[in-house]
Amino acid sequence: MKNLLILGAGTAGTMMANKLLHHLDKHEWNITIVDKNENHYYQPGFLFVPFGVYEPHDIVKKKKDFIPHGVHFILEEVKDILGDVNKVELMSGKVLSYDILIIATGAEVVPEEMQGMKDRLWYKDIFDFYTFEGAVKLSEKLKNWEGGKLVIQLSETLIKCPVAPLEFTFLADAFFEEKGIRDKVEITYVTPLSGAFTKPKATAMLNQLLEEKRINVVPDFYTMSIDNDRKVLISYEGNEVPFDLLVTVPVNKGDRMIEESGLSDDDGLNFVPTDKYTLQSKKFENVFVIGDATNVPASKAGSVAHFEGEILLENILHYIKGEPLSAKFDGHSNCFIETGHGKAALIDFNYDTEPLPGKFPFPFVGPMNLLEVNHANHLGKLMFKWVYWHMLLTGKKLPIPSHMSMAGKVTA
Ligand SMILES: Cc1cc2nc3c(=O)[nH]c(=O)nc-3n(C[C@H](O)[C@H](O)[C@H](O)COP(=O)(O)OP(=O)(O)OC[C@H]3O[C@@H](n4cnc5c(N)ncnc54)[C@H](O)[C@@H]3O)c2cc1C
Repeated sequence: MKNLLILGAGTAGTMMANKLLHHLDKHEWNITIVDKNENHYYQPGFLFVPFGVYEPHDIVKKKKDFIPHGVHFILEEVKDILGDVNKVELMSGKVLSYDILIIATGAEVVPEEMQGMKDRLWYKDIFDFYTFEGAVKLSEKLKNWEGGKLVIQLSETLIKCPVAPLEFTFLADAFFEEKGIRDKVEITYVTPLSGAFTKPKATAMLNQLLEEKRINVVPDFYTMSIDNDRKVLISYEGNEVPFDLLVTVPVNKGDRMIEESGLSDDDGLNFVPTDKYTLQSKKFENVFVIGDATNVPASKAGSVAHFEGEILLENILHYIKGEPLSAKFDGHSNCFIETGHGKAALIDFNYDTEPLPGKFPFPFVGPMNLLEVNHANHLGKLMFKWVYWHMLLTGKKLPIPSHMSMAGKVTA
């Protein structure tokens, strides 16, 4: 028997286990998946928990319930990948051999990376919403907060779901308005980017929304430290932004095991150098990488993991047959941007094409408008939770092609 080993039973790893089980000969291949945590969190739901739209129990399930029969699940932390000898060492000392390895260990927030973030105000006046714990603690804080300076701050530009901090900001505006205390809250969005987002057309739309909603933007601000006594953010240039309540997106990094295995990129963020088209690791030909763990220049998003999954499945089957890896990932990303008051926008883009206006041909549902704020997109965002648990994780084909289509997009 040959061994296909998957590290990480999050979005991408679980999806690959489900897909591969139906395509590999079970008399020839063992499939094993390893994860250090028993709970699977629906991470897009972290955005809604602080505002009481989702309760914590709405977004958590047991990982084992999504691992199909026929796939061996090991609940343990991976210590090391020994790529030269095709082995993986677990924390218990147990060693697993593989013929093919898929790294799907994702990305996590590391608040310890910034001076003053995890100091005495952590989970008192400084919160994240990129973790289950952070989102739940923040929901408790917001229930009784009476207003003041709310600052939403990005520590770095390379983060999971790059639009989530903006979505949080829009939802906060709507939340305080609906509570009748918007006039008592001054909202400031602090970002190292020179605008709201990285892509010009989407940035123009988002900047306009920020202005309409009376949200101050502090661009080009690289936070160096947080002074807990004076309650200010301090940038590398020495500029300061005061806050009463800080909602931060800490530095996002790949798992430390990636670095310890000598598989990390040079930038110190522990993402794995990966061929952006084939999803093969640049170091070992029998190692493939998917989802947030890669260093490919696509968004770190569940939708991206899904599109990559279709490509990776094809390429693993090619690899097993000794054929060239002919399936190519184009960087396709598709994302709803929640804008508050039951509305959202939709963007669709890839490595080469920025989000454009126009229509998105959504099979069964009908065309949806791109780069436009409306209620239908909000319903699409809420529907994604069902799609995630029932279709995406279970490896089913979604009615959206893995390669981005130009159909309906307006290029002029
Ligand atoms: C606030 C927020 C909002 C988001 N909104 C959206 C959205 O609207 N749309 C969208 O498409 N995406 C969204 N995302 C992003 C999406 O959730 C992620 O991109 C996606 O989950 C990545 O999947 P993954 O499998 O690569 O990583 P994960 O799902 O994070 O899985 C990684 C797994 O690896 C395990 N692991 C790591 N290291 C080890 C180790 N050493 N040993 C054993 N196990 C290990 C972890 O426990 C984890 O289970 C959002 C994310 C956040 C945080």
